[in-house]
Amino acid sequence: MAFDRVHDARIRAAAFEWLTDQVLRHGDVLPRSLLVQGFYFGDSRVPLVGPQGIFKPRILELPLSITTAPEGPYNDAFGPDKLLRYRYRGTDPDHRDNRGLREAMANRLPLAYFHGIAPGRYMAAWPVFIVGDHPDPFSPSFSVAVDDKGHLGVVAEDRNERGAVGEEGDTARRQYITSTVRVRLHQRAFRERVLEAYRRQCAFCRLRHEELLDAAHIIPDASPEGEPVVQNGLALCNLHHAAFDKFFIGVRPDYVIEIRPDILREGDGPTLRHAIQGLNGTSILVPERLSLRPDQALLSKRYERYREAAREY
Ligand SMILES: [Zn+2]
Repeated sequence: MAFDRVHDARIRAAAFEWLTDQVLRHGDVLPRSLLVQGFYFGDSRVPLVGPQGIFKPRILELPLSITTAPEGPYNDAFGPDKLLRYRYRGTDPDHRDNRGLREAMANRLPLAYFHGIAPGRYMAAWPVFIVGDHPDPFSPSFSVAVDDKGHLGVVAEDRNERGAVGEEGDTARRQYITSTVRVRLHQRAFRERVLEAYRRQCAFCRLRHEELLDAAHIIPDASPEGEPVVQNGLALCNLHHAAFDKFFIGVRPDYVIEIRPDILREGDGPTLRHAIQGLNGTSILVPERLSLRPDQALLSKRYERYREAAREY
């Protein structure tokens, strides 16, 4: 195949530029409709995703993106080598899509990766490179490394000059970047699932503005029990998140809010009166689905910590 590297590189660069722009506009979670729509390169519309996970727009000879569907909290797409594992399409190594990724690997072409964090919502990472091929008969996959944007332009030409040392440097840098992307994906997925469960409202005050909402942990994520699951989360507005973290506010295992006694006694302006003191004795908003409500054992543990903190005042 006569592969036109210059044409290919131009379209990829335009796709990445477009993605940068979309993330600036919409934040780092992009709706699928936007990616399906894509952008115009001259007269040709270039979508970034298609019905299959491995996607090649008509204008290119080799794939431009890989996509994973939203998954459960533990169904991790990362391998022990700290790189993303991307499953073959089907099991035939010679399927056109699998061959396409293999050729993208041989040509060291940058791709975009879209990670589904909720139905119809994706986090994008680019450039990513296919760096390994594992034709294991049971779960054949490629390994995929995320790189930083500064290495976009130099990947094709300098391979020979840098030699083995450069490749090792590449591997370490890519493993590092890939693991930071992994952390970010998990955080975003947690936020998305928690906000969805709470219908995008603060569990304490019902505020609905998503821009002001956080997914707070009941048990902090640094603790072994602080898992990024909805049952360990609360959707809280910025003020209530901070007040919860600083133990101004406690939540009993029966979902009733307590305000620390010294704070209750304070006389201050309307924010304290309405937004903090006014919550005392009210019940938090919980998800409709029982299985998504805050775990009462975790709440109880957290409430004990609140009581300890309250004793100091
Ligand atoms: Zn609030």
